[in-house]
Amino acid sequence: MEPPRVAMLGGTFDPVHLGHLRSAVELLEALRLDRVHMVPAKVPPLRGTPQVTPEERLALLRLGIGDTPGLVADPRELERDGPSYSADTLASLREEYGRQARLVMALGHDAFLRLADWHSPQRLFQLAHLVVIERPGSDAPLPSALAKLVEGREVAGPEALMRYPAGGLLRLALPTRMAVSATEVRRRLASDRSVRYLLPEAVEARIHSNLLYRCR
Ligand code: ATP
Repeated sequence: MEPPRVAMLGGTFDPVHLGHLRSAVELLEALRLDRVHMVPAKVPPLRGTPQVTPEERLALLRLGIGDTPGLVADPRELERDGPSYSADTLASLREEYGRQARLVMALGHDAFLRLADWHSPQRLFQLAHLVVIERPGSDAPLPSALAKLVEGREVAGPEALMRYPAGGLLRLALPTRMAVSATEVRRRLASDRSVRYLLPEAVEARIHSNLLYRCR
């Protein structure tokens, strides 16, 4: 039997939008994954506290995913005390899926650029592969600490990555790259402008009925 293929896409999801969801679906197909765990951070270590509670961000994520096959809204960081370190989340997924599982941590290029500042970045590669999703406007050269961290890890394509349980790096240009960001969604909501077609309608409806993101 083939080992399971699983990805984690962590984030603030403040709120979830079509850029996140479309990326997760394309990742699933491009790497022929069994599952993508979308994991909201309770306390994002490297940014300010979100306006909306973790439980509400998780509820929006659940609505956004709906019945999409292969995507799961994963509450495990909300159930843990302290800062949300991705290495701890990957360790718990590794425990769940086993040593042979092909485990992937997916992240957008903007997040990748800050990777060398994360908590124990070397440990991430012991636990998982890294898949970097290119985002529009993200073709800057790598900072030197990051270039050093990823040296010798890059592989050419999904199948090369899936030969091993962890340790590789793949940069993936998804066919439908989307310029939407949560910052732009929040900005629009705070100034009473439309967010239609930037996020799933069920997510938009809940944001409006719960009066979320009304101020900057
Ligand atoms: P913000 O604008 O608040 O920084 P964001 O839209 O970047 O938020 P996050 O929750 O921080 O959303 O993102 C979670 C992960 O999804 C990150 O790895 C991020 O790079 C990636 N991501 C976010 N938006 C997109 C997008 N449009 N296309 C591809 N990846 C994305």
